[in-house]
Amino acid sequence: MTVTRFAPSPTGYLHVGNLRTALFNYLIARKNGGEFVLRLDDTDPERSKPEYADAIKQDLEWLGLEWDRVETQSSRLDRYAEAADKLREINRFYEAWETPVELDLKRKKQLNMGKPPVYDRAALDLSEAEKDALKAERGSGVWRFKLDHARINWTDGILGDISIDAASVSDPVLIRGDGQVLYTIASVVDDTDMGITHVVRGSDHVTNTATQIQIIEALGGTVPNFAHHSLLTGPQGEALSKRLGTLALRDLRENGVEPLALLSHMARIGSSDPIELRSSMEELVEGFDLSRFGTAPTKFDVDDLYPLTAKHLHAQDVDAVAADLDALGVPAELQDAFWNVARENITTRHDIAQWWTLCRDGAEPDIDPEDAEFVSEALTLLPEMPFTETSWSEWTSAVKEKSGRKGRALFMPLRKALTGMQHGPDMGQLMPLLQTVRAKG
Ligand code: GLU
Repeated sequence: MTVTRFAPSPTGYLHVGNLRTALFNYLIARKNGGEFVLRLDDTDPERSKPEYADAIKQDLEWLGLEWDRVETQSSRLDRYAEAADKLREINRFYEAWETPVELDLKRKKQLNMGKPPVYDRAALDLSEAEKDALKAERGSGVWRFKLDHARINWTDGILGDISIDAASVSDPVLIRGDGQVLYTIASVVDDTDMGITHVVRGSDHVTNTATQIQIIEALGGTVPNFAHHSLLTGPQGEALSKRLGTLALRDLRENGVEPLALLSHMARIGSSDPIELRSSMEELVEGFDLSRFGTAPTKFDVDDLYPLTAKHLHAQDVDAVAADLDALGVPAELQDAFWNVARENITTRHDIAQWWTLCRDGAEPDIDPEDAEFVSEALTLLPEMPFTETSWSEWTSAVKEKSGRKGRALFMPLRKALTGMQHGPDMGQLMPLLQTVRAKG
């Protein structure tokens, strides 16, 4: 069975970059009738916060990315300790005591000599007495996984055939000096124990994948299928990393972006398929194909989400907005007609309110001085309220006859007198909803 996971660290809010990872893993699981695991990578006790874990769940729920189960790394520390012991037993794990400053110095020296800044494994040459002395002086060291200096190969679901020389990579630190287990080993143990078959994540994890493949093999696990999607950039190709904080999913939600608009966009950008608004999660699942994604950085423009949001809303029937209309106090018997008028004139749900305010309270009239007389005469011909579906045509015909005006010169001043705006809903449909006409004084 296909099992995928989305493994955020609960150290902040999810942003569009995280969503891409979540969505791909979700769609693969659903497309194959498999399972989607939400795994909280919370091994950092200082930075992980329950409120972020809750926020992550809320964001995924908002988008309809339902998970089959939740796992937390903080509850699996025993398993990581067991794996660490096993690595020690097979001589693939060693303690090292260099301080960050010392490591930095080593790296600089290597770079100066034109060498790659790879950890030199000095700790492997320490005698027992030297180790004891370092331990006495500095306490516990970090624990590094001893890579096997061979090529690491895999066929990536997006990048294709990858081959990395393990000698070009530092032996990864899996346990910190203070005993904190790091993501690299925790993730491997989890992926193996939880039977994860497919891992899709950002291309910033490619080197991790290389080392993790060796760790999985050392622990006797099965290597999952890996795929690395390209990272998002801004619309001009600029790095998005600094702006991701402003592209949190909860902010998009607050700004009125619709889940299916966001999902439809994220499921397609960076692929060779056109971006199409999908009307259900099933359709998204159906149309998803990982092999269609390219390796180049993917441009993301938050503004692209709004036309899709508008298009999504235009296609909704009144049931989809009943809660919004109730909250605005739109009477039940008017909701259908009101929504028909409003939906084509909004970008997000937030825009519904302005049309209801117009219907209920009328608008401050906008009357050009040269039209003042024309409008005041026209208002004497305005049909009695409540208006009906024929009120606008009756009124404009009567005004036309009396004034001789036609076309734009006839309609525009009247529209502006009733709505205060040059553009907006079809007046014939709007009239029966108008409960107040302020221009009448
Ligand atoms: N917690 C890791 C991250 O957010 C998970 C990476 C992975 O998918 O393995 O980067």
